[in-house]
Amino acid sequence: MAVMTAPIHIERVKTSRRASIDFNNLGFGNYISDHMSLTEYSNGSWGETKIVPYGDLTLSPAMLALHYGQAIFEGMKAFKNKDGQIIIFRPQRHLQRMNKSLERMCMPLLSEELFMSSLTTLLEVDADWIPTNEGSSLYLRPFMFASEAKLGVKISDEYKFIILTSPVGPYFSKAVKVKVEEEFVRAAEGGTGFVKCAGNYGGAFYPTMLAQKQGFDQVLWTDSKEHKYIDESGAMNVMFVLNGKLVTPKLLSSLLDGVTRDSILTMSESMGIQKEERRVSVAEIEEGFKNGTLTEAFGVGTAAVVSPIASISIHGRNYELPPVGPDSFQLRAKKKLNDIRMGYEADVHGWNYILPK
Ligand SMILES: *Cc1c(COP(=O)(O)O)cnc(C)c1O
Repeated sequence: MAVMTAPIHIERVKTSRRASIDFNNLGFGNYISDHMSLTEYSNGSWGETKIVPYGDLTLSPAMLALHYGQAIFEGMKAFKNKDGQIIIFRPQRHLQRMNKSLERMCMPLLSEELFMSSLTTLLEVDADWIPTNEGSSLYLRPFMFASEAKLGVKISDEYKFIILTSPVGPYFSKAVKVKVEEEFVRAAEGGTGFVKCAGNYGGAFYPTMLAQKQGFDQVLWTDSKEHKYIDESGAMNVMFVLNGKLVTPKLLSSLLDGVTRDSILTMSESMGIQKEERRVSVAEIEEGFKNGTLTEAFGVGTAAVVSPIASISIHGRNYELPPVGPDSFQLRAKKKLNDIRMGYEADVHGWNYILPK
């Protein structure tokens, strides 16, 4: 991926906050690094990218994103590998998805040059913020929103593209209890489920909150027509080991095309497991519990990588999965992904974008 670097204006913080943060106790999303990248769109084109101190913005309360929801984001990660190089995991794939989100929401697309030069310059400036502890990373949050001030319903003519970064610790993935959702839907086919728009999250909060009041951690979303087929779990794609095969719902316009999902499916070919991307019915999952052929269920996404599922409630009946053993597919997949990023295993798929020194 050759990237022409446009000149980027850099305004550095006077005093870094880096030293005040306990890198052994980061959690997820609690701290934002010293700088952010900011690029503004108006009159049909993108202006110059600036790297500026992270801080508040002045925005109009009439800005269109707040009223009509043109707001999208991405979530990806940067690491320092075993040789001390800075790598970004599959940035091009994230950019492709970001552009799909932008297209669906009638927002201006980003060129590879703008996206990569903003990212790499920001990472160079805040390189000290990339954690080096095992399992830690710098979470990258590129996002865009409509900033034009106007109350009439319209597609905005002005946007801001910002990248924030946040050092994050190993995600403590305690096995989660999920409930098959049979009343609410996250997304319908033909809607915006396949894009990372802010509204998808806003709409998911209420059913998730109700599920949490009933003692679950997350919901397992089902198709909007019949609630018969599994879509996703919370904000992660979902995978099962059923009859010894890796089974995951095939992509529809109601599902998010996860980069972690794609990576794990790709790796599965060399991990001695057959994969199936197809519609997955709630009935066959229930059957798999009853006859013991369902041995693993887990969520996959950038934040946690792999999140084991402890139990699934189906039509009000709770089914437990066996504990996750060290030889489980999900833990082997998580380790393999980590080894590829860290440089312990060859990056045969070309997933690591290594920052030039
Ligand atoms: C971001 C996201 C995922 C996971 O995608 P990754 O690219 O693997 O992080 C899955 N489902 C939804 C709804 C998401 O927003």
